[in-house]
Amino acid sequence: MPLHQKTACRKQWGLSQRSGQNIYYKLDCQQPSGSFKIRGIGHYAEQLKAQGVLSLVIASGGNAGLAVAYAAQALQLKAKVVLPLSSSLFVEQLLLDLGAKVYRSGESWAEAQTLALELAQAPQATYIPPFDHPMLWEGHSSLVEELAEQLPQAPDLILLSVGGGGLFKGVMQGLAAHDWPTKVLCLETEGTASLHQSLAAGRQIELAKIEGIASSLGAKKIAQAAWEAAQSPQVYSRVLPDEQALWGVKQLLSETGHLTEPACGLVRAALVQDWPEIQAAKHIVAIICGGRTMPIEQLSL
Ligand SMILES: *Cc1c(COP(=O)(O)O)cnc(C)c1O
Repeated sequence: MPLHQKTACRKQWGLSQRSGQNIYYKLDCQQPSGSFKIRGIGHYAEQLKAQGVLSLVIASGGNAGLAVAYAAQALQLKAKVVLPLSSSLFVEQLLLDLGAKVYRSGESWAEAQTLALELAQAPQATYIPPFDHPMLWEGHSSLVEELAEQLPQAPDLILLSVGGGGLFKGVMQGLAAHDWPTKVLCLETEGTASLHQSLAAGRQIELAKIEGIASSLGAKKIAQAAWEAAQSPQVYSRVLPDEQALWGVKQLLSETGHLTEPACGLVRAALVQDWPEIQAAKHIVAIICGGRTMPIEQLSL
């Protein structure tokens, strides 16, 4: 039994009716850790357990940290999660609730990661990267396998958000495995646009800093494998402002009953843009990636 769940894929009737398209929500907000990340991290954690690993280490105050904590308790492993000193108590409590051991170190993620890499030197411990690992991509590709069972035909377009590009790379692998000609629209907020800016520059760039509210998309540099996958003519990249992402969170809350993060609301907001790649599609899947790390107070921002 994998650690992730098979999630529902539901037609969004109101949006579909208004646009004359078939718009489906792939509800990965239903995953037990609150986001799609358990697909890849659960898959990797199972392999590691089979190899005799006893503790999983990560530096993440986001959904990757939550997925590691969830996977560890499900597999009876230890989870060690390092947060920078500035991380919120809200996230720390979510991690503690899942039984993780929480460490705090440094002003920045780079410093927290240094401690995580040190902790991972202990015998039978392994550092889990949040998005840049083939096991993660293989796990994430299960999402496309489910779509193949759930949909009457291959979608014309899949919408997803991009941080470091792990989800994107996994979806591209899944599409290739099914030989689907589906186009993929990658979404980022203005302050997290590492893929979009790299595509504009024609080379992988590193953002000087991450800005705005979509913290789950805050990778300064896209993974090499995701960058390569993004060179396909099947792939589009667009950017929206934070206000749109927050608007999307509210829409999703009222449409699905799930509170998600701006990293996910962004995908909802993209559905109503007048971009040609959206207008040209008839069957559309929006990956509702979820996310549990936004305190509800931020909704009124
Ligand atoms: C991690 C995450 C993303 C981005 O995934 P990447 O694999 O880093 O591109 C998007 N949405 C949510 C909710 C996430 O947790």
